Amino acid sequence: GGLVEVSGLTWRPYGRRDPVLRDLTLTIPAGQRVLLVGPSGAGKSTLLRAVGGLLETADSGERTGAVTIDGMPAGSSAGMVGMVLQEPGAGIVSATVGRDVAFGLENVGADRTGMPRVVAESLRAVRLDKPADTPTSALSGGETQRLAIAGALALRPRVLLLDEPTAMLDPDNAASVRAVVDEVTRDRGLTVVVVEHRLGPWLDLVDRLLVLDRAGGIVADGCPGEVLQIH
Ligand code: ADP
Ligand code: ADP
Repeated sequence: GGLVEVSGLTWRPYGRRDPVLRDLTLTIPAGQRVLLVGPSGAGKSTLLRAVGGLLETADSGERTGAVTIDGMPAGSSAGMVGMVLQEPGAGIVSATVGRDVAFGLENVGADRTGMPRVVAESLRAVRLDKPADTPTSALSGGETQRLAIAGALALRPRVLLLDEPTAMLDPDNAASVRAVVDEVTRDRGLTVVVVEHRLGPWLDLVDRLLVLDRAGGIVADGCPGEVLQIH
């Protein structure tokens, strides 16, 4: 089996006739990097939330099927999955870089004595070479996204979910985020699912391209060259 198992997942928001996700089944092995694409409204964000274990808490609807991470229901153990959203700053909760990375650790009741080391390591991993007391408001969009990744990494997740992490960034900042995602996922063997509309820059970084259609099903799935028929 894979690290992430989605089996027969159907999800229909209350008040909608048609499901957003329709009988979706998919296996993601540990360490695989997946680019998830499809038209707007296809259910990409919904699928990420399902893997993150947030579908029940953040959305109201009718769900059937199962999502497990390492055999456990998604969302049942804190810190298994890290999530970064499109809007830089959406996940930033603290006034300083150090406090922000420490926030998640404090939430899960991590040992405080080891925290400065984990915070420093996480900032180094995303190449955010700033003192811990740097105001989060002083960061560029790309740095803010890298800070969000650092916050996720501090919890030592197995899976990193990125929902259009570079959509709001200029090309240089976008490149810095991709480079960091590439590096940290290789170094740590993390499993990654990234949603992005501009797929070109990501194609070399991923092992697999997964295409959803408007009807909430998978229309293509394979290595990028295969799916795009590049020979
Ligand atoms: P994508 O990320 O592919 O653009 P989404 O997963 O954001 O698609 O949304 C898919 C569809 O589900 C959209 O039509 C959206 O309006 C609808 N949807 C998503 N979440 C909810 C919700 N909590 N309640 C009602 N409708 C929702
Ligand atoms: P506070 O004084 O409010 O705790 P700090 O900025 O001193 O705020 O610390 C915020 C977090 O950053 C703390 O949880 C600590 O673990 C971490 N931290 C503090 N100093 C450093 C440092 N020099 N390098 C890395 N992390 C640090």
